Amino acid sequence: MNRVITIDGPSGAGKSTIARLVAERLGFQYLDTGALYRAVALYLRQKGLGEDVRDQEIASLLKGLILSFKDGKTFINGEDVSGQIRTPEIGHYSSVFSARRPVREFLLEIQRRFPEVQDTVCEGRDMGTVVFPGAWRKFYLDASEEERARRRYLQLRSAGKEITMEAALRDVRERDLRDSSRDVAPLRRAEDAIYIDTTSMGIEEAVKEILRHL
Ligand code: C5P
Repeated sequence: MNRVITIDGPSGAGKSTIARLVAERLGFQYLDTGALYRAVALYLRQKGLGEDVRDQEIASLLKGLILSFKDGKTFINGEDVSGQIRTPEIGHYSSVFSARRPVREFLLEIQRRFPEVQDTVCEGRDMGTVVFPGAWRKFYLDASEEERARRRYLQLRSAGKEITMEAALRDVRERDLRDSSRDVAPLRRAEDAIYIDTTSMGIEEAVKEILRHL
């Protein structure tokens, strides 16, 4: 098995950009597992599923899904859906469906295949606790709720999406609650993960801090 670096933390802690840059500097591949959860949510929505669907129905629909992630792009049955998964609606449903067991089981196998090919930086919520408990190095990135909401707001605005600061804060709180209180693979820091608070750090500073630990 190749080396795995895990980067976990709540939404808006800066994980994606930081993980991508760390991977680039080290010559590792980068795996954005949030994108995989978003793609599953998009697929289930396209199939007409809502929040109250039964596990069995989710499991049977997932049999028809071929999911791939390559060079930062996400594909559903061969179609590039990288743009479509970045909407507030899919953000919401990815958080909802990610609490469902068939979804987590489906993605577990897919995620574990990545490091078979190359050293990998894996970013998500349960990388260090569930998917790669034996990872080479583990990090947990965090930031204050307000700062994370501010980042989400700016990110969505710069992508041309309509959102208010209040809605961004509500979204962050709602997702934190759902991600950390679910029964399967809840968001929590692995005991052996290095904790980094990025509230008053720039991206470059956080990247350097990770590289320093490595
Ligand atoms: O990181 P991102 O916001 O793109 O992730 C979308 C959603 O997918 C999160 O709100 C979370 O509920 C879920 N997720 C997860 N486990 C992961 C990665 C993401 O449950 N490893």
